[in-house]
This record gives sequence, C-alpha cells and structure tokens, in this order.
Amino acid sequence: MDLTTDTSAAQSQRADYRGRFAPSPSGPLHFGSLVAAVGSFLAARSQGGEWLLRIDDVDPPRKVPGAADGILRTLENYHLFWDGPVLYQSQRFDAYEAALTQLAAADHSYPCGCTRREISAISPTHIYPGTCRNGLPPGRQARALRVYCDEQDLCFDDSLQGRQCQRLGRDIGDFIVKRADGLYAYHLATALDDAFQQVTEVVRGADLLDATFPQLYLQRLLGLPRPAYLHLPVAVTAAGEKLSKQTHARAIDDSPPGEALGRALTFLDHPPPEDLHGAAPGELLDWAIAHWQPASLPRSKTLTIDTNETSS
Ligand code: GLU
Repeated sequence: MDLTTDTSAAQSQRADYRGRFAPSPSGPLHFGSLVAAVGSFLAARSQGGEWLLRIDDVDPPRKVPGAADGILRTLENYHLFWDGPVLYQSQRFDAYEAALTQLAAADHSYPCGCTRREISAISPTHIYPGTCRNGLPPGRQARALRVYCDEQDLCFDDSLQGRQCQRLGRDIGDFIVKRADGLYAYHLATALDDAFQQVTEVVRGADLLDATFPQLYLQRLLGLPRPAYLHLPVAVTAAGEKLSKQTHARAIDDSPPGEALGRALTFLDHPPPEDLHGAAPGELLDWAIAHWQPASLPRSKTLTIDTNETSS
C-alpha cells in the first residue's frame, strides 16, 4: 500500500467545495476556535462552497452542559451561518461501531489490555510499545482497541504548511480506536464523519496537524476518501501556551462580534480596511469572502497574540 502519494486529495479550487467547523462542546468559543471557524468559513464561502457544522461530542464526560447550544448561538451572532443540519457525533455511534467491526474483520485492529500508566512506564513518548499486538498476555483483559501501524511513511501536502510526513510505527504507533472507557476515539470519529459529510477540505488549527496522520491512515484502512487539509496557525500566549480554558482564554462573547472578527481576520493576515472598523459582522465577512487569499495566510504553526486583548 503506497501511503506517500496522494491521488484523491481535493484540488485547491473546486466548485463542489465542502468545508466544516467541528468544535468540541467543552466550553464557549474562544479566540482560538473563532480563528478556526472564520478560516474554514472563508475558505468555503470564497469558493462558493458549503460550510458544515459538526459538534464533536464524542466524549460525553468532557461535554459541558449548554456549551453546544452556546457555540451555535455565538456562530449565529457572528453571522457564521452554516449549511444544512448540525451533525452531532453522539448520534453517530452506530457508524463508529460498524467501522470497528470492519477494522477487526480485516485484522487491522487488536484488543489491548495495557493501562496508560503501564505504557508510560515503558514508553516516555506514550507511543504504544506493542505489548498486546501479538495477543493479550495471559491473564489480561481487553480494555481498548488499537490499530496496527507498521513502519511505512505517510505523507500529505498541507495547503498552507507544506508537505508533512511521518513514519507510522515510529512516530505514531498503534493508536486507539476504542477507548478503555468504551468511548470511540476522536481519530475514528473524525475520519468517518469527514467522509460522511463529504468534506473536501479540512481547515483547522495547526495543533491538529499531527492528528491528520492517524486520520489519513484510518481513511485508507476503511476505504474512505481523503480530503485536502489546511492547518491554520494557532494563537498562543507570550509563554507559548495555546489559548484554551486552561490558559483562561476569555469567551469571545465578552466582546462585540465585529471587534473579535476583525481581530481574527487580522490574525489571519487579512486585516479589514479602516472604513470597516466598527462594522457589523455580516459586512466584515462579505468583505473577507471577497478578499480571501489563502496564499496570504501566515505560514507558521503558532502566532503569539496579546492576551490582554483576547483573554482574561
Ligand atoms: N473537535 C476538535 C476540537 O475542537 C476539532 C476537530 C477537527 O477539526 O478535526 O479541537
């Protein structure tokens, strides 16, 4: 299986463009997630394409009550209107289970009885050392399901960050597709849902650049189409931390939508002109759709922002 060539990836210009934004409902949208929403929205709308919304609620323990509805309301306030119904991963468990059956039937997966603590004791990088890959050791119970990752190179051409390659076994290792707590793994759900939603280009933060490899691999194992990928720079604090609830990123609802949108566009090197300062979100987005230039996006994986403006 040649994993290094990419024949099915979408072209950068296509009439049937379908993008998506896939927030996890673990809290309100913050500046970092607004950048991903705006970037994926503009990539789609500037090509006359569709922009879909998926709520990645595959992990119920991390779900914050009301967060999904809050995200929807915030997007509407920003005039980031999506196409069609919202897809909730919590309604897709049958599809995830069917994919696990398919992986097991083709001998691509195996049960693993190791605990996280046992793995980190052997492998400081957390790359799975392969303890259970030839069968569960005697007396061990299956906890999770993993896929076999052999030593082969996997590459893709990110539309912004350029060519990315990793060696499956060495850099990723046999990864989990069903967790010990019975939940479906993010990579499995994402690979399946991007295909289910017929997404042609995934535009998201560069913190998920490495996540692309397990997702590409699952697409290959499950016979799913491969979308194109564009990973936007991620906003970090001066200390180099990603904006998140942990780094006290302020919910963007605390500032007027036009202001936060202007900051997100400036972050993406698309600063709105002077006469649009203070403009309503719809006006700003219309300008941005007309002026969206993927070639002008900043090519770094992280960009430092002034956290006085975007966090508490
Ligand atoms: N749900 C993920 C997050 O909020 C993003 C998933 C993706 O874009 O693939 O970080």
